[in-house]
Amino acid sequence: KGERLRLPPWLKTEIPIGKNYNKLKNTLRDLNLHTVCEEARCPNIGECWGGGEYATATATIMLMGDTCTRGCRFCSIKTARKPPPLDPDEPYNTAKAIAAWGLDYVVLTSVDRDDISDGGAAHFAKTVSNLKERDPQMLVECLTPDFRGDLAAVEKIALSGLDVYAHNVETVRELQRHVRDPRANFDQSLSVLKHAKKVKPTVLTKTSIMLGLGETDQQILHTLAELREAGVDCLTLGQYMQPTKRHLKVEEYVTPERFAHWEKVGNEMGFVYTASGPLVRSSYKAGEFFLKNLLK
Ligand code: SF4
Ligand code: SF4
Repeated sequence: KGERLRLPPWLKTEIPIGKNYNKLKNTLRDLNLHTVCEEARCPNIGECWGGGEYATATATIMLMGDTCTRGCRFCSIKTARKPPPLDPDEPYNTAKAIAAWGLDYVVLTSVDRDDISDGGAAHFAKTVSNLKERDPQMLVECLTPDFRGDLAAVEKIALSGLDVYAHNVETVRELQRHVRDPRANFDQSLSVLKHAKKVKPTVLTKTSIMLGLGETDQQILHTLAELREAGVDCLTLGQYMQPTKRHLKVEEYVTPERFAHWEKVGNEMGFVYTASGPLVRSSYKAGEFFLKNLLK
């Protein structure tokens, strides 16, 4: 105990860069978009931006600033009690920039803004409707906060015209308090996912879990069963990586074989889509999956 685990070989491999990657990278500069892909130095950027078999480009855009009102123990985002106010032009300008960028699938996400009465839900929803107006073909996923369980806020986003409603439970039920900000919890997150599905049954719901935080197999299994029961459609599982020394330590580097096992379990449990692997992130190649399935 106390020592940091060594990085296993499967996390050191080179990641392929697809052919669209340079085009997207070069056109990003003038658009004033903040992508999580670049800012979090996501290892999947080559694949997501490059497009895979179906040449679909996926990117994750951050709304509502770079400062969060919460402080989860796995996350390296800046924290403040009162971040700068929202930019009222952001929904319009961001939608315009995303439409001009040439994506097939976009994930809109944000920090938690517990300082704003609706948590920024209206701002989020406005960005989606602006975007869908400009480009109805683009698939839009929103990866939202829990809005402290405010279901009216969830509803605003679920009815905004999006295709996928994502909210991450982050870890198994038993480790919530250890991993997430104390204002978050498993049941509150489940209620968000359930409500989105209830008010818009055609929307796909999606969640993500990080492995390697000390969870047991039994706890993972139980968590997946609860998610299925709540009607969650899509699931991603990836390795937790410690962003800095001040953050939670990695308890285990889960092997690719184990991740493959969980993908199989997810499929058997009836999730529409399960992506599970050491480098899988919540939005990993989402566009490719959804396009493939819509083309069927
Ligand atoms: Fe961006 Fe998400 Fe893909 Fe990473 S996994 S490159 S954050 S879209
Ligand atoms: Fe990071 Fe989200 Fe937690 Fe804020 S709420 S600290 S952005 S994981």
